[in-house]
Amino acid sequence: MQYKILEENIKKCCSCSLRGTCGQVVPGEGNPKAEILFVGEAPGAEEDKQGRPFVGAAGKFLNQMLETINLKREDVFIANVLKCRPPANRDPMPEEVAACWPWLLEQIRSIKPKLIVLLGRHAMERFLPNQKISQIHGTAVRRDIPGVGKQVFYVLYHPAAALYQGSLREVLLADFKKIPKVLKAIEKEKRGDMTDKNNKSDLGSGAGENEKEKNRQCCFDCR
Ligand code: URA
Repeated sequence: MQYKILEENIKKCCSCSLRGTCGQVVPGEGNPKAEILFVGEAPGAEEDKQGRPFVGAAGKFLNQMLETINLKREDVFIANVLKCRPPANRDPMPEEVAACWPWLLEQIRSIKPKLIVLLGRHAMERFLPNQKISQIHGTAVRRDIPGVGKQVFYVLYHPAAALYQGSLREVLLADFKKIPKVLKAIEKEKRGDMTDKNNKSDLGSGAGENEKEKNRQCCFDCR
């Protein structure tokens, strides 16, 4: 689907009660052909006001981190699990996440990113359930997502968490700087250039993995 049409459809959504309490729908923004899709939790007050994702304090920090890897917002795509702001920024309810989920899947199918960067616990849980962000941050993992197919994810602490918990700031900055390396590993694998001595890719295999394999950190030299 052409991205503009998808965006218009997202803006018309009333699938859950949040449309009745938010100011406006925040579908996401950026390059609709981006290699990297960032997924956060939900719009906050400033995002709700402007109709754009990550434009408050956390967004400023995200912009700064993008600069450290020579990227601008326009180079990537930025979206959220929820497209409407929950009242008083409360946590998303399961039924809201479920109602909004088809839009995120459509966005992924339309953008076809090489890498999805999950910002924070809520985004991580939606794609990688039963994981601990304290263990999985800064790691690339592959999953087979129904309706999408095999996809590589990279988990980061949420920029807002790093703003109010100073100790996470350096961790997040260090993890963020590894994004280009993860992207390169994906590209290398796509070219079929699996040069390591065991003739294995730098990334895991995805579908069909047993539980042990699934929980394995697959971008082995990320850490
Ligand atoms: N936090 C998010 O998760 N998303 C936004 O768009 C803004 C803040």
